[in-house]
Amino acid sequence: MTSFQDFGLADPIARALREENYVTPTPIQAQTIPLALEGRDVIGIAQTGTGKTASFALPILNRLLQNRTKVQPKSCRVLVLSPTRELSGQILDSFNAYGRHIRLSSALAIGGVPMGRQVRSVMQGVEVMVATPGRLLDLVQSNGLKLNQVEFLVLDEADRMLDMGFINDIRKIVAKLPVKRQTLFFSATMPKDIAELAEAMLRDPARVAVTPVSSTAERVSQRIIQVDFVAKPAMLAQLLKQEPVNRALVFTRTKHGADKVVKGLEKAGIAANAIHGNKSQNHRERTLAAFRSGEISTLVATDIAARGIDVDGISHVVNYDLPNVPETYVHRIGRTARAGADGVAISLVAGAEEMGYLRDIERLIRMALPREDRRTPGSREQAPAAAAPHRAGRSAPRTHMARGNESPPAAKGPRRRRRRGGNGGAAQVGRGESPRPPQIGKSEGSQGGIQGVAFLHRESRAKPQPNRNNQTQR
Ligand code: AMP
Repeated sequence: MTSFQDFGLADPIARALREENYVTPTPIQAQTIPLALEGRDVIGIAQTGTGKTASFALPILNRLLQNRTKVQPKSCRVLVLSPTRELSGQILDSFNAYGRHIRLSSALAIGGVPMGRQVRSVMQGVEVMVATPGRLLDLVQSNGLKLNQVEFLVLDEADRMLDMGFINDIRKIVAKLPVKRQTLFFSATMPKDIAELAEAMLRDPARVAVTPVSSTAERVSQRIIQVDFVAKPAMLAQLLKQEPVNRALVFTRTKHGADKVVKGLEKAGIAANAIHGNKSQNHRERTLAAFRSGEISTLVATDIAARGIDVDGISHVVNYDLPNVPETYVHRIGRTARAGADGVAISLVAGAEEMGYLRDIERLIRMALPREDRRTPGSREQAPAAAAPHRAGRSAPRTHMARGNESPPAAKGPRRRRRRGGNGGAAQVGRGESPRPPQIGKSEGSQGGIQGVAFLHRESRAKPQPNRNNQTQR
């Protein structure tokens, strides 16, 4: 599939795509759209940044148009579930952008904002409802929304939803949906528990996939700075002053850590702000807007808060803490170097535990990362010697869960994998056998196999949504 024209989408949708400057479908779109247009259920393995939103939104809009029935009050025809408020907002923006010539009615139901306006926004019924699972269930249980008219269900970032403890909410929601529906299920990774969830929800699904995360790492210039734990705040401030930073995204493992880092930076005279699950939706939107506009050039975030946010021009990703799940590292550094741009990722590593995480990361990405040792001599003696990097013991890339540490109490704890494969202390590390990523939009054309991944920038839409917390678009 070389062009969007080949899909035979309805004119108003094709026109919106031209206005969005979409010419060539991305690999996930090339695979998913024809299947979804036929009405098939689809399981897609793809990350944010691969164009997966359009891969479900376009066929759904097209099918809605083919049969434009009246929506009952307090009902919706399309239900999209996503793990975070930000991602939900972006998905809604995408539906509204692609559906701008068809007078689409849509609404958003996300946590962290009062429910009253959300209840009012669906009072007359909407065609497309995008929601986080918890709030959606609240709406249903308070009789604000009925699910018996849902014809299309999308689960986006299913692995992250499980991470965040939404599994029971999802099961309850699915139990209320009509059995006769089309379901499109997307996840960045497909471990056993996700595959089982999909199995229970989908009928004879087609499978599509783009390359798992490990190839991202090859496009980012990565550095490790070994540092004493107490010296991290000063080291971060120094780096941000010395490096040619356009926009820096600093990751911490905890919400508390994010706030502490912001305070430390402010003391050092660097304007920064944090986003994480404890901040209000308004604060998150304001902070993101300030980061996008360049008003602040440093954003501190936890993994979950950062997921689903695409900001152009992030020159630096700094791992203030190393994640304990190696795939999370790859997700983090993928925030820079998008769409083939250059990016820098710097990780501050302190203590034996983080050295262990580093080795796991190097094994996953099949690269030895260059290290600078900035520890004070005394602590250097106590700290375990930096292990020589291993050559990866796997021959094929894995598709695993990337788990953050910001899960609510109900969530399962982060799963620590410590596979000690490979050849122990070998000094030579291969650059990895995974293929170079193809150009954006280049379809590989294989059926259902693992494909090259191409990351795209999420650009602000032609029609910005000033307050999308609970709007209805008509
Ligand atoms: P997503 O992975 O769905 O979050 O998409 C990432 C970004 O790529 C968004 O800004 C989309 O608008 C953009 N995008 C998606 N598909 C295409 C395409 N075929 N051509 C150009 N841009 C695209």
